[in-house]
Amino acid sequence: MTAPPFFSSRQGTLQGPATFEGIGLHTGRRTQVTVMPAPAGQGIRFRRSDRAGKGAELQADWRNCVDFPRCTMMQAPGGAKFQTIEHLMAALFALEIDNATVLMDGQEVPIMDGSAAPLIEAIAAAGREEQEAPRQFRKIEQSLTVTDDRISLRIEPSERFEIDYTLELPYWGTQHWAGEVTPESFRREICYARTYGILSVIWPALILGKLRLIPLVRGASLGNALLMYKDRVLNKGGLKSPDEFLRHRIIDLVGDLTLGGGPIIGKVTAFCSNHKHNRALLRAIEAEKTAELKAS
Ligand SMILES: [Zn+2]
Repeated sequence: MTAPPFFSSRQGTLQGPATFEGIGLHTGRRTQVTVMPAPAGQGIRFRRSDRAGKGAELQADWRNCVDFPRCTMMQAPGGAKFQTIEHLMAALFALEIDNATVLMDGQEVPIMDGSAAPLIEAIAAAGREEQEAPRQFRKIEQSLTVTDDRISLRIEPSERFEIDYTLELPYWGTQHWAGEVTPESFRREICYARTYGILSVIWPALILGKLRLIPLVRGASLGNALLMYKDRVLNKGGLKSPDEFLRHRIIDLVGDLTLGGGPIIGKVTAFCSNHKHNRALLRAIEAEKTAELKAS
């Protein structure tokens, strides 16, 4: 498969290690992440370097994911977790890094400012090293749809990687973005969008999380997430663009879709999809079968 325009045709890794650290959105714990160069054909591998992680190692792959609200999480057979990996995966897409080993001294990738931009900056500083091996693109050959009540996610053949995303939000109405997604367009138009929460949804989740001892959004603050209250955001400085919420959903979608292997060539049309649907689409692509999820 030849590379679509604006994509490198050869695999890439980093020229040297890239390190960043910060607190996790859900656990509220500080973790240091080091993204290291890796040989061609390895793909992205995550490894825990802390004692609690017991050296667990997993390939970044949707088959290694477990259901968890509001983020993408992988879990090793021994129980060690790799949580909120989606923005990092999107950053690796944006920099065309196919092969890397991601060392984590804790469970959750730091949320930074809530977007993919600081991760891109940290990894870009290490530099991309082109490798001899050709890149493996996944060309979509047939149309597939995942539906879940009103939510839908469809993929169909195209010569490019395109996304058409529609998001409906209470008080904010309908937001829509459509375009070709290339590493460059992602870095220019999408990567800055921050994660968000709705005040009336977040606080019950926080209380519920504590009651059930499930860490949900424990690390959230106005410095790393947009907080919506009715038709306002409570963050100083407001939104970076009127459709920042929608663009963040595209970061999540792009990050999740990298968990199927190489970059996708196809057109994705999404209506309010989240991580669960993104993974269901990867499952559908593998099975070449349309899927219907139970209404949630
Ligand atoms: Zn996200």
